[in-house]
Amino acid sequence: MRSQFLPFSRPSISEDEIAQVGEVLRSGWITTGLKAAAFEDAFVAYCGGRGAVALASATAGMHILLKALDIKPGDEVVTPSLTWVSTVNLITLAGATPVFADIDRHTLMVTPETVAPCLSERTRLIVPVHFAGASLDLDPLRALAASRGIPLVEDAAHAAGTEYRGRKIGAEGTSIFSFHPIKNLTCGEGGMLVSDDAALVERIKRLKFHGLGVDAYDRDTQGRAPQAEVIEPGYKYNLTDFAAVLGLGQLARLEGFIERRAALAGLYRELLAGIDEITPLALPAWPQRHAWHLFIVRLEVERAGLSRDEFMARLKARNIGTGLHFKAVHLQKYYRDTLALTPGALPATEWNSERILSLPLFPAMTEAEVAEVVAAIKEVLTA
Ligand SMILES: *Cc1c(COP(=O)(O)O)cnc(C)c1O
Repeated sequence: MRSQFLPFSRPSISEDEIAQVGEVLRSGWITTGLKAAAFEDAFVAYCGGRGAVALASATAGMHILLKALDIKPGDEVVTPSLTWVSTVNLITLAGATPVFADIDRHTLMVTPETVAPCLSERTRLIVPVHFAGASLDLDPLRALAASRGIPLVEDAAHAAGTEYRGRKIGAEGTSIFSFHPIKNLTCGEGGMLVSDDAALVERIKRLKFHGLGVDAYDRDTQGRAPQAEVIEPGYKYNLTDFAAVLGLGQLARLEGFIERRAALAGLYRELLAGIDEITPLALPAWPQRHAWHLFIVRLEVERAGLSRDEFMARLKARNIGTGLHFKAVHLQKYYRDTLALTPGALPATEWNSERILSLPLFPAMTEAEVAEVVAAIKEVLTA
């Protein structure tokens, strides 16, 4: 057994990045300024997109996106239930109704077949999720949304560096990325909205900083334009320069991170192949590059004679950390009580919600550690 706990995720922060953050802290300008602007420019160049806005988190991005699209009571927003709670919370807080599309059982992603039955006269937005670093099959989803005149915004929290048909996520449409510490690229907390809709980018820029028509930092005045006036009431969701400079360093290393994650994921797939109780997610059939944000498997609970939660606890007792991405939102207390969906309403979502877990995966992990995780899994299953 391992003598030290192996977390399921650990950020890779270099000494150079730490030094860069220190330099910003010593510079006299620590909030949004030239580094945040440089991070936006670098991220948009990396994706091949048109415009980007650096934000305090992906959740902040979703909040102001719903505001920019004027999502309000009576409106419906279609999104999976197997997602992070933030999207569903924000839809609810806007007074709108989340409508959950089921997912493909083996990719955990929505499809046109699961989204189409959720669309109604009231649908104002579709938010599909690129899951675990894999890409959604975007073309048919975009075609469906376009045919109904409904905007589609990609939850790209897992998808920095993911490619679909040879282009990065963010190159087309509107995507929201997260830089939370477990994500492939982190700046402590942070997010980025990337869009090819110039008017939307301008609106998001304004809404993220009090609704003033200016940024926290004006490149011309080398500071904040003190005479700026409120154009519409906005929020306070800008990214600090010391976070942005960390993001810049991370972005420069993202390709290397993804290569390393892909190599470790390949080893996991090889070593887990003979274990009947464990089923990794399927690799999507459409052309894409997986960013391997998470390595998710399903525990075949009937065959194992053990619940997923108990399995996670037994791995933890062997010093192996695991994650749960995610527990279906409609099965969580507030949404159970308020939406009261009948059990079985979302069969593939519910099936996975009881069986998924995320195994340790991060760039600094070693091949030997992957082997230790698999050995611990075998021990738990034969104990
Ligand atoms: C992490 C995550 C978010 C939220 O990102 P934050 O930057 O923490 O706000 C949204 N959606 C998904 C699928 C996520 O995994």
